[in-house]
Amino acid sequence: MRCPACVDADLDKEGNCRRCGGQWVDELLVEHQASHSLRVTGGRYSERHCPMCDEKMDEPLIFDVPIDRCEAHGMWFDKAELEKVLKRARSEGWEPEEQVDPGSSLRGLIAAANVWRGD
Ligand SMILES: [Zn+2]
Ligand SMILES: [Zn+2]
Repeated sequence: MRCPACVDADLDKEGNCRRCGGQWVDELLVEHQASHSLRVTGGRYSERHCPMCDEKMDEPLIFDVPIDRCEAHGMWFDKAELEKVLKRARSEGWEPEEQVDPGSSLRGLIAAANVWRGD
């Protein structure tokens, strides 16, 4: 898969870009492992393209952090954005379980999704 943020870089099989440090997250994977689906708000348009279908992505907010998202495929977090999301999640009452390393972004996101309340 192509990195949506770099002009010419590929993502590794975990969805990380070694060049810019961003990360692609398969949303289905998160939803399958979390008991809540991810709650996103807003919906501006991003100029970036989904690495899977090449459609332009949206730019919704997760915990008030703007990210890039293809509704069908997943979400793109720039370097440190995922960390910012997890930090905000914690300030809204998310307490990670002990075995969740907040630095382990995907697991942290799944854990945070579990405390996400829909409307
Ligand atoms: Zn990149
Ligand atoms: Zn897509």
